[in-house]
Amino acid sequence: METKYYTKLENRKVQCHLCPHECKITAGKSGICKVRSNLDGVLHLDVYGSLSATHFDPIEKKPLYHFHPGKEIFSLGSLGCNFKCPCCQNYHISQSGIKDFPRLLKLTIPEIIRHAKSNPLNIGVAYTYNEPFVWYEYMFDTSQEIKKAGLYNVAVSNGYINKKPLEELTLYIDAFNIDIKGFDDGIYRSFAGGKLSNILDSLQIIKGRNCHLEITFLVVPEINDDIGQFRQMIRWIVKNLGSDVPLHISRYFPNYKMHKQATSSGSIRNMARLASEFMSYVYVGNMTGNEFQDTVCPKCQQITIIRDGYYIGSDNLTTDGKCQSCGHKIAIV
Ligand code: SF4
Ligand code: SF4
Repeated sequence: METKYYTKLENRKVQCHLCPHECKITAGKSGICKVRSNLDGVLHLDVYGSLSATHFDPIEKKPLYHFHPGKEIFSLGSLGCNFKCPCCQNYHISQSGIKDFPRLLKLTIPEIIRHAKSNPLNIGVAYTYNEPFVWYEYMFDTSQEIKKAGLYNVAVSNGYINKKPLEELTLYIDAFNIDIKGFDDGIYRSFAGGKLSNILDSLQIIKGRNCHLEITFLVVPEINDDIGQFRQMIRWIVKNLGSDVPLHISRYFPNYKMHKQATSSGSIRNMARLASEFMSYVYVGNMTGNEFQDTVCPKCQQITIIRDGYYIGSDNLTTDGKCQSCGHKIAIV
């Protein structure tokens, strides 16, 4: 499948304009993401129609806590990523191209719709597991049809994409969960291989388009756990996106190329307490039995949604999403 967003250069070279890497790719080679390849002077998406994983997940697992809580979402993953995080949980698919991973599931868009509609708890499709922006054309075409079918689209992403393709996507994607890897360009360069400013631009575009947005921050010891930088990040979020954006502070565990010890629960709790001074909805992920799972009304401090892991216990919300105790509107879709 020929991709969008590229230009042809001399000698059958092409330049991809999907993400800020702006890869210049010679014939027979692929870009940094491993799934966009130059076939004789034409840029192709190698994985159009091909998936590495499909599953019905609780929407809370994305994580999205403020978008149709308690429902499920048909989750699709493919191959590739434009980042190289050394602790990637899904490195076997994110760091693979089609030659490394020949056993892919072929699924047409009508088949995806059929699956999505087969589960009465399911609200739509999530593009997730590896970085979905690198299989942009398959995600874009699917999301258009999913929307026409009356279902929702969710993207779980690192946010590293150029402005124009992101703006086009926001017409169809209803909810995003975007990672912030650290509030420092040096961290982005050395840890993931990207630039912080591009992620901040993406967050503002998503918010400006009125899509539902939640943010995940994975705390990795000695990489991005500097409390001063964390405070700067919280300030930036509150100023530019608002204090109602749900923030998921997630605990790192050793994985892939990173073997340092898991983040201490004390450090995660300190960060969550600090963030809660400025933000209304702060959650802790990857840490069982913590006090930052439930949704608390920012006005009267009553619990409005009780969670047990990815599952909803009960809620104290009116049908129009207000706190039953004080009537405050909770920022939940
Ligand atoms: S999407 Fe892939 S090929 Fe395109 S610029 Fe980004 S990393 Fe390079
Ligand atoms: S951005 Fe996500 S999928 Fe890509 S390498 Fe990092 S953790 Fe893995």
